[in-house]
Amino acid sequence: MSNPSFSAVPFGSEPPSAAALSAPPLAELPVDWANQVRELAAERNAVILAHNYQVPEIQDIAHHVGDSLALSRIAASSDASTIVFCGVHFMAETAKILAPEKTVLIPDPDAGCSLASSIEVADVLAWKADHPDGVVVAYVNTSAAVKAEVDVCCTSSNAADVVRSIPADREIFFLPDQFLGAHVRRVTGRDIDVWAGECHVHAEISPSHLREVVAANPDTDLLVHPECGCTTTALYLTTTGDLPAERTKVLSTGGMAEYAASTKSSRVLVATETGILHQLRKAAPNTEFVPVSERAVCPYMKMITPAKLLRSLRENWFQIEVEPSIAVRAKASVERMIAIGSPSRGGE
Ligand code: SF4
Repeated sequence: MSNPSFSAVPFGSEPPSAAALSAPPLAELPVDWANQVRELAAERNAVILAHNYQVPEIQDIAHHVGDSLALSRIAASSDASTIVFCGVHFMAETAKILAPEKTVLIPDPDAGCSLASSIEVADVLAWKADHPDGVVVAYVNTSAAVKAEVDVCCTSSNAADVVRSIPADREIFFLPDQFLGAHVRRVTGRDIDVWAGECHVHAEISPSHLREVVAANPDTDLLVHPECGCTTTALYLTTTGDLPAERTKVLSTGGMAEYAASTKSSRVLVATETGILHQLRKAAPNTEFVPVSERAVCPYMKMITPAKLLRSLRENWFQIEVEPSIAVRAKASVERMIAIGSPSRGGE
């Protein structure tokens, strides 16, 4: 399927949003900011969730660190009345969808995602109009409005199972990640229309670079995290034989942490956004974890800073809202995925 309207907006080319322009002033970071954050969180009955790709200071102050869906499920089951989601916008939206009665804050509402923004509601509606009996499958890296229009969501861990659950005579549209879509097409053998979206961070881990690094480190394991768009090229290459399957471990956060806790290796390659290295190095201080690309840094993830986290708790800013009719339908898409299979298989 071609999608000439696709245009992943490069980071930095968009002006600040109206929400960002009306943000309360950002105070200088006090020396005891970590204590202040913890005290404010306790006062407000707030839980702080941090994605694995956050800066180390944010990971260290958070109550929970993990991938987007695992964090959203923690948000839904937590007793806290306020969720501070240190991640990108679609992740905070997903938390709000799963926990609509709670206040969900994101310290910077402009923390977006190039993959999520590669597709819009109109694109989904156009495919559905052409394929009235088709089924639309969406990776979780999508806005709430897009999730509301699709039939079922998936993560990269369970995308193939989700597709296999669809009757063979139904057409399928997979969005928005073209590499994950190609991977699913290959392993399921289904003829799938795939949206040509991609994460701009993963472009820093090109297939040729990945092959070069792996070839130059013949005895070194390669860890590939499947949950974010930046590693789906590697996921694809393991199924084409371009990467050695015996050394390539496709693991989610928990799987990587388990690997790190038990590895005897002195050196391990990591093909994902570099924020994950902080968790791995904490788990295995005697192992050298080497990023396949030092430049695989998500600038959206790094927009969340300690000063913005402190402001978020002090000023109740920025509150995520999802229009109720959208939230109900988006939640149904996420719940259909959960009913099909574990979204966290691979060990969170
Ligand atoms: S790493 Fe890529 S897919 Fe993940 S949040 Fe950043 S832009 Fe989106």
